[in-house]
Amino acid sequence: MKVKLLPSSFEEDGSPSPRQHLACIVIDDIVSIDAGSLAMAATDTMRRQLRDVVVTHAHLDHIAGLPLYVDDLFATLDSPVRVHALAEVIEVLERDVFNWSVFPRFSELSTQMGPPIEYHTIEFGKLFNIRDLQFRLFPADHKVPSAGVTVSDANSTIAITGDTSSLDGLSQSVGGFENVKAILVECAFPDELSEIARSSHHMTPAVLRNELEKLPSDIEVFVINIKPRYREAVIAQIAGLKLANVNVMEVGKDYFW
Ligand SMILES: [Zn+2]
Repeated sequence: MKVKLLPSSFEEDGSPSPRQHLACIVIDDIVSIDAGSLAMAATDTMRRQLRDVVVTHAHLDHIAGLPLYVDDLFATLDSPVRVHALAEVIEVLERDVFNWSVFPRFSELSTQMGPPIEYHTIEFGKLFNIRDLQFRLFPADHKVPSAGVTVSDANSTIAITGDTSSLDGLSQSVGGFENVKAILVECAFPDELSEIARSSHHMTPAVLRNELEKLPSDIEVFVINIKPRYREAVIAQIAGLKLANVNVMEVGKDYFW
């Protein structure tokens, strides 16, 4: 499968910046995990093909691009944009985002093919399919109802943690790790901000090192969701862990598993 972390900000010359303000990971140009920068950074191919969004939780940096993406495609859609998420997450989207005040309630609008957005409630542990890909949500430790997600094709499985302060949900839910080729794991704050990380339910490099002991040591680990202001500090501290299987995921690069 092809996996890309979409950019969300730009350098002075207009080129994509590695700083990640928003969370949005696209699989095979057809499914997005979170939609932070989906409207802003999707390619034309994605705009044509991508109609499924798995939302890990309703924090703004994970959903900011969702209303704008549906709005952008509205006039040309021949099938709805399907949002797959926990019931609590869908409730927040409808109550606090698509509420007519912040943005139109697309689920109440009708086009030739019906409402332009369609919700699919997903429970932890249940397998669900989108095209040829298979997904499963696992619990994350965050301040609000949150999930991580595994994505599998015929050859490989990857896991994406979303925002979380531990890997308990992943280590207990995935079962065997034989087919798991890579884990994309958050690490929002540097160690000196461990108190903020703890209270906001995020990880620091020191926490990440301890949490990774719950997983097989040979799985490739790619760090995502680093707070832009602390990016350099977090990268230096991750390098200091001297874990050969842990790297920072590059924004805008195609990864294949
Ligand atoms: Zn969050």
